[in-house]
Parts: sequence; C-alpha cells; structure tokens
Amino acid sequence: MPRNSSLSFGERSRLLADTYVALSKDEQIWGGKLTNGLRRIVHACANALGVHRASIWQLESDYSRMACLTLYREDTDQYEQGMELEARSFPRYFAALANNRVIAAADAQNDPRTREFADIYLKPLNIISLLDGTVRSEGKTRGVLCLEETGNARLWTREEQEFIASVSDLVSQLMLLNTLRESETRYRALFDGSVDGVFVLRNGIFIECNQAALKLFGCTRDQLLGQPPARFSPPAQPDGAASSTKAQRKIEAAIQGVPQNFEWRHCCFDGTPFEAEVNLNLVMLEGNPCLMATVRNIDDRKLAEDALLQSRLQLEYRANHDSLTGLPNRDYLHEQAAHAILNAAAQKHHLAFLLMDLNRFKEVNDTLGHSIGDHLLKLLAARLLAVLQPLGAMPYRLGGDEFAVMTNLLNSEQEAFDVATRVSECLRHPISVEGISLELGASIGISLFPQHGSDSHQMLRCADVAMYYAKTHGTGIALYTSTQDSNSPRRLTMMAELGTAIRENQLVLHYQPRIDLHTGACTGCEALLRWQHPKHGMIPPGDFIPAAEMSDIIHPLSQWVLRNALEQIKCWLDEGLSLPVAVNLSARNLADCECPDKIARLLETCAVPPHLLEIEITESALISDPERAMQVVDRIHQLGIPLAIDDFGTGYSSLSYLKRLPIDTLKIDRTFVKDMRENEADAVIVRSTIALAHSFGLKVVAEGVEDSATLDVLRQLSCDQAQGFGIARPLPIAAFTDWLQQHSRH
Ligand code: C2E
Ligand code: MG
Ligand code: MG
Repeated sequence: MPRNSSLSFGERSRLLADTYVALSKDEQIWGGKLTNGLRRIVHACANALGVHRASIWQLESDYSRMACLTLYREDTDQYEQGMELEARSFPRYFAALANNRVIAAADAQNDPRTREFADIYLKPLNIISLLDGTVRSEGKTRGVLCLEETGNARLWTREEQEFIASVSDLVSQLMLLNTLRESETRYRALFDGSVDGVFVLRNGIFIECNQAALKLFGCTRDQLLGQPPARFSPPAQPDGAASSTKAQRKIEAAIQGVPQNFEWRHCCFDGTPFEAEVNLNLVMLEGNPCLMATVRNIDDRKLAEDALLQSRLQLEYRANHDSLTGLPNRDYLHEQAAHAILNAAAQKHHLAFLLMDLNRFKEVNDTLGHSIGDHLLKLLAARLLAVLQPLGAMPYRLGGDEFAVMTNLLNSEQEAFDVATRVSECLRHPISVEGISLELGASIGISLFPQHGSDSHQMLRCADVAMYYAKTHGTGIALYTSTQDSNSPRRLTMMAELGTAIRENQLVLHYQPRIDLHTGACTGCEALLRWQHPKHGMIPPGDFIPAAEMSDIIHPLSQWVLRNALEQIKCWLDEGLSLPVAVNLSARNLADCECPDKIARLLETCAVPPHLLEIEITESALISDPERAMQVVDRIHQLGIPLAIDDFGTGYSSLSYLKRLPIDTLKIDRTFVKDMRENEADAVIVRSTIALAHSFGLKVVAEGVEDSATLDVLRQLSCDQAQGFGIARPLPIAAFTDWLQQHSRH
C-alpha cells in the first residue's frame, strides 16, 4: 500500500496539485543545474504518489535506446543514474512510449506493454505496478518519467495519471530550457571568444556586439549600440559612390539570406581608417531577422600583400630591364613585340624593328676602361630615349653595345629609315666622357612586319642580318633583304651543294705570299679557299664561308683545307722547301673541342712539323663562347702551331683576351692599311696597333698592302711583315710556285 494511502481522496488530490505548483515555481529546478532539477522532480513525485522508485529517462532521438538521467530509490534515499534500455530488446514498451502520453500499468509483470522486462527487471526488483508519463516536445517522445510501485499492485487514479502527465511536461520544459542554455553558452563562448569583431544588426543599427568588436572600433558599448554601420565607415571610400552602393547591395543580398563576404574600409570611433574583411549572415533572433556581421582588421594582411606586390613588381621590373641603362631588355622586347605584332596584324598596319650595334665601342671599352664604357652606354641610352619617345618608339638594350627599337609604321618603310636616321645621327653626335670627346656612330639593320617574319624572333634575326650587312658594307643603315641572308633559299641550295663540292674536289686552295718587310724574303703564305663551281664558276670564300659557318658543314670544310694545306707543305718539304702555310679557322671550329685532336692527327698523317702550319683566327671567333674558344686555342698552341689574330681592329675582342691568348702574330685588317697614307685616323690605328703588338711581343703582319708606298710607310713604322695584292694576289699552286721562284731570285 502506498505510504500516503491514509490520506482522503481530496487530500491526495490537493497534495498532487500543490506538488505540481511547487515544482513549477521551484527556483532550484528552473534556475539551477539540470541534474539537480531532475532529482528534485523525481523526489517530489515519489513523495506525492508514495511510490518507492521514481526515475527520469532520456530517449535517443532515433528511439534506439534510453538512458536513465536520475533514479530516486526510497529504500536508500539515494539517486542513481546511467542505466540503459535497448529498444530492440523491448519493442512493445518503446512503441507504447512513442504512442502514449501516460502508461498506467497496474499489473506491470503481465501488462502487454511492459511484460517484456518482467523477468529481467520487474520480478527481481519486485515491481508490481508502473506509471509512466512520456516527456514530449514538438509531438515526439523525448523521454519518460517513470514511477514504480514495489510489493503492491496499484490502480493509478485519473488524478495521478494527469499529475504524471503534467510533471512530464515540466520535465520536457526543463530539458528544453537546458538545451537552450547549453546552446546559448556555446553561442556566447563563440561570440565573446571570437578574435573578430562580431556585431548583430537589426533594422540597420547595431543591437549587440562582442568585446573584440569594441576593441576593433575603439569604443564603448554605449558608443556602438544604436549606431548604424555608416558611423564606422569613412565618408569617402577609395572608389567613392560605387563603393557605397556595393556595400548596400551586399547588405541587401545578406538580408535575402545569401551570406556575403567582402572587403571594406572601416574606421574606428576616432576616425582612424582600417581595411576590413566583412562577413554578413542572416540570423533569426527572437523571431526577428537580423544580420550578424563578422569584421576582421586586415591592415596587416594588406600591408603584407602590398609588400609582396611591390617586391613582385620590382622583380618583374628587374627581369624586364637592363640594370645599367634602365632601358627595357631583350625579354621585354619579345614580350612587347608579341602584343604589338598581334595588334598590327589585326589593324593591318606595319611594324619596324631596328637593331643597332655601336661602332668601335669595344675599342673604347678596352682602351678607356669599363667604367667609361658603362658611362657612355648610359648617356647613349638617355639620348636614344629622348629621340625615340617623342616618335612613339621605344629603345631596348639587348646586351653589350647592342640596342633595338620597335616602332609602329603608319605609311611606308621610309618612316623606318627616318627613325633609323634620327637614331644614327643622335649616336654619331660626339659625346664627352671625362674630358674625352668620342664619336661612335652605329650600324643599324631594319626589318619590317609583316614583310620579313611573323614573330619577334624572326624580326630580330632579319634586323640582325641587315645590321651585319650595314656594318660590313659600311652603309650605316640597311633594310633587310633575303639576299643578305645566309639562310635564304639560294644559300640553302648552296650548302647542300657544298657537301658535294668537298667530296668531289670542287674546292681549291690559292696561296698568297707574305714577305718580311726588312729582308723582303717570303716568310710564308696564306691558304685561301675557292670553290670551282661546275655551274657558277669560281666562287670567292666570302660567298659561301659565312653560310658554311652557320652549319656543321664548316667542320669537314676546314678539315679539307687543313689536309690540303698540309699536303702542300709536305710536298714542298719533299722538294727541300720549308715554307709555313697559314690556314683560317672559323668560330665554329673553335667551339669544337675535338678540333685540336683532329689537327694533331692530320699533322701526323701528313708528317708535317707543327711550326710549318699556322692558324689564323678572327677576334669575332672569340665572342660567342670565349672560354671554350680559348681552351681550344690553347690546345692548338700546345701542339706547337703558331697562332695569328686575323683582321685585327674590325672585331670585338678585348685586350684582356689578347693578353690571355697564346698568339704569335697580329694581322692588321686591310681596311686600316688600305687608306693609311691618306687617312690620319687609320694611320694612328696602324701605328698604335704595331706598338701594342710589339709591347706584347707579337709579330705584326699588315694585310691588304696594294702598293710599294704603303710598304715603305709600314717599314718605317717597324711593321714586321706584309701581305697584299701589291706583293702578290692569292695564286693557284702552279702560279704561286712560279712567283716563289722569281721572288727568291731577286
Ligand atoms: P682573310 O683571311 O683576311 O684573307 C685575306 C683576304 O684578303 C683574301 O680574300 C685576300 O684575297 C684578300 N686580300 C689580300 N690582299 C689584298 C689586297 O691587297 N687588297 C684587297 N682588296 N684584298 C686583299 P679572300 O680570299 O676572298 O678571302 C676572304 C676571307 O675568306 C678571308 O679573309 C678569310 O677570312 C676567309 N677564308 C678564306 N679561305 C678560308 C678558309 O679556308 N677557311 C676559312 N674559315 N675562311 C677562309
Ligand atoms: Mg686570314
Ligand atoms: Mg684578314
């Protein structure tokens, strides 16, 4: 029998009602912790109904099991928790929980809803009757308030069933409240713990914010709440009105429920501006749509980005500009040309590419030093800019003393010539460097788009060909034509034929003697190649060697010359004549590391002592890969072969190379020798070259001596030897032998 069974029906009803009211007002339940609240409820229920056990269980949301949150046992006056019931073991009971507000089982051990656990639970604990009230919210069962009567059967009254249903509702409210509290605690923690400023906006004004927000804007809560965001934006955004409409659009989109993320310029309460990243999200607070804004100061990030951009720009600038003159460089020219060519192709207009090479810059550099050379280049670069910029053209420095210009052409190629003439004049104008007045001048090659090519590489190559033409023909300025080009179809056919020429002995060597200026004796000769072409007749070397030098055919060609020259030396040796023969080698031969070995083998095969072979190399042969060329030259010299620098004065070599090279002879180019009697400047060059060569312990040979007067002057200048039409032309072997015999008789 229940302990309060002595009470009258009315008294029992009142007790239940009072208990319910007390529970609903109990501060300790609603203001305290959940576990404590639940304990007070089960304890009050056990007392009010006079049962021995009262418990509250929570159902998993998938109804798979329930766990005991608290169980009050009257026998021990203690609380227990943690027990679990699996739904699959007690399907009927779980189904009953889902479908009933109250399960009142007087004979629980036999009641269909509860007898499932009679053996394992009810009987062992001697539980006879059960009264369960289901804890529900949003139409679903979330748990159960369970009262168990041990020892006696109990018929649950309607008041008792209503009581348990009402208290179950209280439990439901308490659990809901707890969930809200938990989420609010979590939300608060997020809100307050955020390092970003978090703001809540309703109807366009701030209604809530966290501590970080106050720090971010440098103000108090009172200064912030109630204000519109505009109060914390500087009046003028960097891009003005467009910007404020942008912000408005973002806010509107966020209100429509589309989260927004953007950068914005904010300002602190005192007006200090800062860059911010803003996130806007729509949230419902107390049923009202509000915007939650997260604002982060990104000044540091912006600074870092700016610094990165700056350094990238600097790197880009450095990659695209020449450090000495500040002019854009070759890479940049190709980049710009690619755009210009696309544009010109689309607009059907023309482009001109000018390539220029300063005359005699290397000599200035060598004689006056690099710092003056550098200074000169800077001055010339500035001059080029000053002349070209008003014409809408841009100069580029390609390296060394090589510059290029790219310009649009409106009407005719004459415009390109006009630009080239302006450039040429500005470069020819004397320059005063450290008190020395220098006149340099330049050779300029011109190529035109689209006539001469379709990309910047082809354009520059053609301009380069034209530039060499201008240089070698002394025209100053030359427009590209395919006849200048060693890769022209005619040249290519010729190259194919040259292979046959080597195999079929169409090549022939002519020999030009060299005499000692003091004794007049023949000191040797130079082997000069000719091509006895079956169709075109005798072709001079200048017409096929430059082209051969651009392909690998130069190797068998030089082999052929060496072998034939050596065979001739051997022939003379056999006749008792010991006459040195000079052979010309090309730049490409000097780039061939096997070249010295090949020469050594030939010397051996032909049984010729090395001192009877002389090798002539030009200064320009040393430019492209000086280190490699010098190694090859060294090894040739080590074989005991004397070396001569050919065409001295026309090329690019610097004196530092001359000092490092194991040369024996310097051959002054005929362009200086030819006019030296009339032209004082040429005479100065010849005189100083002889002095220079002697100071290095070198012999000097003057080339291109066409008359005896020149021979006399050279003799006076202490030149050692001479070669030229004035002595003898290059002669076929038979004619040369005749000349030798006649000459030795004099
Ligand atoms: P180079 O080595 O400077 O040869 C001298 C050139 O000057 C020869 O022209 C010769 O005929 C010419 N010459 C000599 N004396 C005078 C003169 O008094 N007046 C004038 N106007 N010219 C004179 P060539 O034979 O036409 O050879 C031209 C160039 O072709 C040579 O210049 C040399 O660089 C190259 N060459 C000739 N044979 C060979 C060869 O077997 N191999 C290589 N790699 N180059 C060669
Ligand atoms: Mg020569
Ligand atoms: Mg020469």
